[in-house]
Amino acid sequence: MGLPSQTDPKNWTEDFSHENGNYICTCCYCGGQFLGHKRRVVCNVCHEAEKDPDQ
Ligand SMILES: [Zn+2]
Repeated sequence: MGLPSQTDPKNWTEDFSHENGNYICTCCYCGGQFLGHKRRVVCNVCHEAEKDPDQ
């Protein structure tokens, strides 16, 4: 266990420059921790999977 890595693909790296963009969040789909805006509830990996249902 531990803090999410800065290089974790679940992170929302585009959020990092925002004021509240470096929070530790928990994904409501996979339950994994990721770094991103404090209001995010889905990690970047699950978000990408959701928007491409054909894959
Ligand atoms: Zn996820």
